Amino acid sequence: MWPTIAVVPFLLFAALIDPERSPASVLSRTPTSFGHVQVDAADVAAAIVEGEAAHVTARTVLGLADVRFDIVEAQDSPRRFGERSSEGVPTYVWPFRQSADGRSQPPPAYLLRHEIGHDLFIRYLVPSTGSSQYGGDAPDWLDEMAAIAFEGEPLRSLRRRSIVHVAQEGKLIPLHRFLNMVHPEMAAGSIPDTDGRLGAAFDPASDETASFYAMAAAFYEFLVARTENAAIIADLAAVVRRGEPVEPWLLARTGYADAARGIDALDRDFQNWIASGAGYGGPSGQRATRTNEPCSR
Ligand SMILES: [Zn+2]
Repeated sequence: MWPTIAVVPFLLFAALIDPERSPASVLSRTPTSFGHVQVDAADVAAAIVEGEAAHVTARTVLGLADVRFDIVEAQDSPRRFGERSSEGVPTYVWPFRQSADGRSQPPPAYLLRHEIGHDLFIRYLVPSTGSSQYGGDAPDWLDEMAAIAFEGEPLRSLRRRSIVHVAQEGKLIPLHRFLNMVHPEMAAGSIPDTDGRLGAAFDPASDETASFYAMAAAFYEFLVARTENAAIIADLAAVVRRGEPVEPWLLARTGYADAARGIDALDRDFQNWIASGAGYGGPSGQRATRTNEPCSR
C-alpha cells in the first residue's frame, strides 16, 4: 500500500514523552534569526533549520514580515505548543529528544515547520472563533494547505508522488466537495479536542485522508502556477476574513468566473495539470521511485 503521510495539529504528545525521565538539565538558549532555540546541543542545528524555514515561508506565503517565535525541547517545557513565553513570543515545543529508555521515537524534526505553519495561519490570518472545528475559521482545506505550504523536501516530493498515485487510483476528490468538506480525520472523530498539545504523524482513520492531503498540496502548487502568486494563501485568508465566499473568488482568479459550471471547468483544468507533467504527473513523476520515504508507516 502506498504510504500515506498526514500531519495534524492538536494530538497529544504524551505518548512520546517519558514520564519517568530524569530531571531536565538546563539547556542553553541560542539566539537565531527568528527568536531563540532551547534544545539539546545535538538538536540545535535541526531546530534552527526548521525555524529558519518557517520564518522565510511565513514571509513569502503568509505575508508575515518578521514573525518571532522560540523553539523549545518539549521534555523541558511545561508550555503548550504555541503558548506565549514570558516575553510574549509564541513558543513551539517539540520533542526532539529521544526518551531515556528508548521506548519511543521522537517525530521527524522536518514535521515541525508544518505545525508552525498551522499555528501562524490561525494566530495571524484566520483565527478560530468556534470550538470543535479543525484549525481556525477558514475552510479545512485552506487550514491544511497553509501548513503544507511550509513543508520542504522530502515531504514535498512525497506529496507529489502521492497525488499521482491518488489520481491513478481514481481517488481525486471532486473539487466542489473538496472546497466544502470537513477535514476527513475531523469527520472520522479521530482528532481530539485541542488542549494545545499536538502530535505529528498518525495512521489515518479515514479512507479520504491521503487524498485530502495530496490534493491540498497539489492544489496549492496549481493555484500558484495559475495565478503566479506565491502568496495566494494570504489572499485567500483575506477573502475568508471579509466573510466572502471562496469559490467565486477562486473562479475569478483562475479565469473561470464566466464559464458554465465554472467549478467543474476548474476541476478539469486541475486534473489535466496533474496529468500534464507540470510538476506532477508527467513521465518523470510516473517514474518516481519509492526510495528514501521519510515516513515508513
Ligand atoms: Zn496539518
